[in-house]
Amino acid sequence: MTAESPSSTPQNGRSATCLRCKRLTYAPIEVRYTERASGPGVALYACPDCAPRYVPSPSPDDEIGTI
Ligand SMILES: [Zn+2]
Repeated sequence: MTAESPSSTPQNGRSATCLRCKRLTYAPIEVRYTERASGPGVALYACPDCAPRYVPSPSPDDEIGTI
């Protein structure tokens, strides 16, 4: 007996497409959350390599521009 439901994709871990490099990562880091007028908001993820480019830096000199 198993509690896992049949699925075409493995559910043994989180996975998401990186916002920047568009590659599938199994260690997604939420870097942005977009509110929508209708329906739930959408969380955007980046892979560990790209996440630092989206996470606000504590340094005011390192300003993040538009994506
Ligand atoms: Zn990436």
